Amino acid sequence: MAFETVCGLEVHTELLTKTKIFCSCTTAFGGEPNSHCCEVCTGMPGTLPVLNERVLEYAVRCGIALNCEITNYIKFDRKNYFYPDLPKAYQISQLYLPICTNGYVEINDSINGGKKRVRIHEIHMEEDAGKLIHSDGKSLVNYNRAGVPLLEIVSEPDISNGTEAAEYTEKLREILMFCGISDCKMQEGSLRADVNVSVRRAGEKLGTRTEMKNLSSFRAIKTAVDSEAERQIALIESGEKVVQQTRRFDEKSGSSYSMRNKEEANDYKYFPEPDIPPIVISNEYIASVRSKMPELPDEKRKKYSSLGLSNYDIQLLCSDIYYASLFEKTLKITALPKVTANWITGEVMALHRKYDVKPDMLAEIILLSENKKITREAAKETFSSCIITGELPTDYVKRNSLEIIKDESLIKNTVTGIINENPKAVEEFTQGKDKALNFLVGQCMRALKGKASAEEIRAEIIKAIR
Ligand code: ADP
Ligand code: MG
Ligand code: ZN
Repeated sequence: MAFETVCGLEVHTELLTKTKIFCSCTTAFGGEPNSHCCEVCTGMPGTLPVLNERVLEYAVRCGIALNCEITNYIKFDRKNYFYPDLPKAYQISQLYLPICTNGYVEINDSINGGKKRVRIHEIHMEEDAGKLIHSDGKSLVNYNRAGVPLLEIVSEPDISNGTEAAEYTEKLREILMFCGISDCKMQEGSLRADVNVSVRRAGEKLGTRTEMKNLSSFRAIKTAVDSEAERQIALIESGEKVVQQTRRFDEKSGSSYSMRNKEEANDYKYFPEPDIPPIVISNEYIASVRSKMPELPDEKRKKYSSLGLSNYDIQLLCSDIYYASLFEKTLKITALPKVTANWITGEVMALHRKYDVKPDMLAEIILLSENKKITREAAKETFSSCIITGELPTDYVKRNSLEIIKDESLIKNTVTGIINENPKAVEEFTQGKDKALNFLVGQCMRALKGKASAEEIRAEIIKAIR
């Protein structure tokens, strides 16, 4: 009988707060090692944690976005383990009363078609650990990341293969990003997933699972689930047993190897965190967070679709909150959805975020071009220059005299001149060769230094020859 794969994910996301979860150190990524630290986040004796209220707000926002129940009475707990990335020798987390429970995320059902729900078991708040660097026989530690706020989002084992696991994580990423609570930069570790996998024959109870930690790309998540399921099936078919263990997934080879068996795993000796009192989250507070919820990806998609954008454009605009919000702000000025979307998916995305695009500047250029004040080519040139210098587009256009020539007699004279100089092309055009017409338009544009509308010239040439 065929096997089915069962998978549940624990996703960690770093929150976009300015300061850490229990002190006022910055959460900025990078920086000199151990420069974003104080006595609290390095666990000096006698220091006390103070909860960053923003973390609470973001956790509630996340719970609302993921259709969860919000817990009215929450506590923090200590998870004890000894490892040098954790200066206090315990992590402040939530075990008994997590802030959100019982939610779901909708994904495509890859087996039965249609949609399915991946249930969220819980979301809890915790602090990130520092980072160890092993080199030259020495071990160094950097505590800049210690105390950065995390949400851990724990799914039920409702995922049936690697494709669904990757889609679930992509959905989460989109929702968290549009909620404004995380930048979800996977390459910087602000979104990472622990993947739990087991297999069973249909109708059997859940099989023994293995876990692969800290996967930080959709591809790694997909491959890890599918290759681990294959490994387990092969084991069972050859009469062996799956051992519950943590395995390290190697992205290069696409396979995993055992790190430690669960029996040897740490006993965390959880107990309630005595330094942080329990917190009451009132229904009024939840309602106020709900009333300020940003628009979520599904709502945005619907809105963009009603503006007449293609699915392709919608997908690109929703790939990053940066593009979606630039689109909306620019659109407010231009009122031209399609053209604005094209500019963003074309010129703006080609910049790969190297420059920050201001909506009013982009809108000004779009309007100059759409109102036929400048040609599309001139608009592109203006964009690539102003984006670097910050010059006002109208100033740039004036300074380089890029305005389209509206002087009818100059256009007429130029067309007449070019026609007289190129009898052969004219002859070819009358014989029906479109290439010849393009050539004549090109010659006129060149004579006018590209500052005329090609359509107007084309019409003028046809009028003159016929
Ligand atoms: P732990 O406390 O050891 O982390 P949990 O019960 O919290 O274990 O589960 C962790 C994750 O593993 C959850 O996402 C859950 O859905 C998933 N999971 C639990 N049992 C299985 C199983 N048999 N097969 C696959 N995933 C599982
Ligand atoms: Mg767990
Ligand atoms: Zn600190």
